[in-house]
Amino acid sequence: MGTVAIVGAGMAGLVCGRQLQALGHQVIWLEKSRGVGGRLATRRLTDGAWVDHGVRYWAPRCAELQQMTQQLVEQGLLYPWAAEGFRWAGELVEQPTAAYCARQGLNAIAKHLAKNHDIRRQQRVTVLTKTATGWQLTIDGMDEPSYLQADAVVLAVPAPQALPLLAPLDAAAAESLQSVRYAPCLSLMVTYGDLPTGPLNHQRGWHITAEHPVLGWLSLDSSKPASRPGVYAVLLQSQAQFDAEYLVQLDALRSDQSAVDALQQATIIQMLKAAATIVPGLDQPQSTRLHRWRYSVVQKPHSAVVLETRWPSLVGCGDWCCPANGPGLDAAYQSGVAAAEALRCS
Ligand SMILES: Cc1cc2nc3c(=O)[nH]c(=O)nc-3n(C[C@H](O)[C@H](O)[C@H](O)COP(=O)(O)OP(=O)(O)OC[C@H]3O[C@@H](n4cnc5c(N)ncnc54)[C@H](O)[C@@H]3O)c2cc1C
Repeated sequence: MGTVAIVGAGMAGLVCGRQLQALGHQVIWLEKSRGVGGRLATRRLTDGAWVDHGVRYWAPRCAELQQMTQQLVEQGLLYPWAAEGFRWAGELVEQPTAAYCARQGLNAIAKHLAKNHDIRRQQRVTVLTKTATGWQLTIDGMDEPSYLQADAVVLAVPAPQALPLLAPLDAAAAESLQSVRYAPCLSLMVTYGDLPTGPLNHQRGWHITAEHPVLGWLSLDSSKPASRPGVYAVLLQSQAQFDAEYLVQLDALRSDQSAVDALQQATIIQMLKAAATIVPGLDQPQSTRLHRWRYSVVQKPHSAVVLETRWPSLVGCGDWCCPANGPGLDAAYQSGVAAAEALRCS
């Protein structure tokens, strides 16, 4: 059994590598960030609150992810989220949703999947080279660039981040990557010392899918288990179009830091004002923190569940690969499983 290098320790990379390890391969993950999970992300805020600022909640659609969810529930890692679901298009309408959350945030699930595996953090793969026997990966780590030899490689990163690695090796595969499109998203994490009483139950919690020009999502994340008592933590996520306009303005100001700061502040105020038209009082925060996701949910996927290349020992996977059950975590899970299967068959 050979060595497999997995580039990226998000949902797809973790699932793929665990399957290959179970088959007897030696698996090494290379992850550019300090933590694992990618967009399965939880941010701790200065006042002790936390927010799931990438994936909003866990809601499996495919049978395999439902089965894994059941195991995670039995292990006490996932919990049904008791918050009430709503839709907003001028007024709030109840929309019950089966959603799960994790104690201390969904990133805990990625940490659980990563436990006891050889995951090398802060290791950004910059070049992939074909050798006589397999692959050499060039890695920018914390110190000097280093190299890793592997028999097979899985690129489990968003399509635009796989492109510079694959383009020099396989023009057809690179063309497939170029056709993938993601929606961008701004996540504004907000805390409040208090929230005025109104139509929503702040004790039970709430989440709202909004049809608003600025906001697509609002949720009271402090209603998830083990959140800090005495602090209300709210997640506001923008519509993709609003974020695209923000990016155009940001690019125009790139070299002027004070103008960038002013734009960021104005954007935060705009998002808070929009939120207050849906839930009164949300424009009076205690603290705010803005995060920009260049790649959030896939809008135009690749046409197959795995990206095959001219070498059977090099495949790509992730949420950008043909989502049979829609985009998001299900797509990442199914593509990760399919990539392990593709390497096994090669
Ligand atoms: C704001 C937002 C809201 C979302 N809402 C939902 C939702 O409600 N429901 C849902 O199902 N999904 C949602 N998603 C999408 C979901 O998060 C993704 O589909 C899923 O997490 C993707 O997993 P992945 O493993 O394919 O990619 P990622 O999670 O992006 O993992 C890729 C990993 O590769 C690493 N990496 C990248 N380049 C390199 C490199 N060169 N070297 C080493 N490492 C590298 C990254 O750091 C990252 O950890 C949302 C995402 C966002 C951002």
